Amino acid sequence: MSEATLQPVPANTTGIDRVRITQVEVIPVRIPFSAPFKIASGAARLTNDTLYVRLHTDAGITGLGETQAWRRQGSVETLASLIAAIETILAPHLTGRSPFAMNAIMADLDEALYNSFYAKAAIGDALMDLQGKLLGVPVHVLLGGRCRDWLEACAVLSIKPDFAETMDQARAFWDRGFTSFTFKVGLDTDADIRNTRTLREAFPDAILRIDANAAMGFDAAATLLERIAPYGIDAAEQLIALWDVEGMAELARRTTIPLMADECLGSDHDLMRIIQLRAARVLQTKVAKNGGIHRSRHLWALAHTAGMRIYPGNHPSTSVATASVVQLAAAWPGALLHGPFAVGITGALAADPVEQPLTMQGNRVLVPKGPGLGVTLDDDRIAALRVDL
Ligand SMILES: [Mg+2]
Repeated sequence: MSEATLQPVPANTTGIDRVRITQVEVIPVRIPFSAPFKIASGAARLTNDTLYVRLHTDAGITGLGETQAWRRQGSVETLASLIAAIETILAPHLTGRSPFAMNAIMADLDEALYNSFYAKAAIGDALMDLQGKLLGVPVHVLLGGRCRDWLEACAVLSIKPDFAETMDQARAFWDRGFTSFTFKVGLDTDADIRNTRTLREAFPDAILRIDANAAMGFDAAATLLERIAPYGIDAAEQLIALWDVEGMAELARRTTIPLMADECLGSDHDLMRIIQLRAARVLQTKVAKNGGIHRSRHLWALAHTAGMRIYPGNHPSTSVATASVVQLAAAWPGALLHGPFAVGITGALAADPVEQPLTMQGNRVLVPKGPGLGVTLDDDRIAALRVDL
């Protein structure tokens, strides 16, 4: 634990309650993956549709948030639909208002448009970035202060045409200082059993988790859990369909491996149901999937109360949404697992169009000390990635 290092407060803080949001800017970009990104559900992807929201104010200071149009596993959003929702439905609840009216604004957004966490994530995080920048403090100070100086990430081992490539990927991550692997499974149960054993034998000290991205049937999932139980699996993530929470609860009763909820967990009501059914012992949040810092924090508190472990995640994201997770984690006093929150900046994405990417030391992502999220877009590089819709 360490004390927060407060930045000097700007001289113009008197009157910041009079600052008003003047414009909601949307910035759609297509970020290339380093290599085709393959998980068990959906075809391999070559690019990641990403949307930044930049809130402008009459003080000349802006706030930034990031979301994605993931388009599978519970995400129905496209870049065009995100922009339409933000510009036509949500933005009118922001312009003319104080960025410090966040709770009221977020409640109004909920009344204006059901769920829609992917759109609200970028807005909520941009509001927090803006508040931090206006006050001259990092977002974790707004959330109650710094409890840690870094957040440890796991390595995500995506599905490769040849498992030897996955092993090369694992060795490269291990050599960089990563001690936790999330191994993507779900297409071929026999191969998954064999490969999990190979990974365990090659890395006897690693924390090993598997993730099927909701692609397995119940029987295959039950078989996989039974057969890999001897290999010391820390958690099995979202093996079966996101709608089958009762099936997850039945699997949980049959296995000693802790199950993790990801795709089946969007809202706080989803989490309540998971808790009531005891369908998972670990939860994963993502900035886009769960509606940004504002809502993820609520989910973490609920999960913690229910005795669940917390696994900070993300869709592959640039430093902006990665910083959102790191800021939330920085202010969290409890335990956190090594999560895949940094999958985008640890190899999955080929571009990180920010002025100063987050700093990594081994598997640690250091908590930024600058105001707000601590990350600024590089507008020249953004221009090259921007898509016209
Ligand atoms: Mg997942």
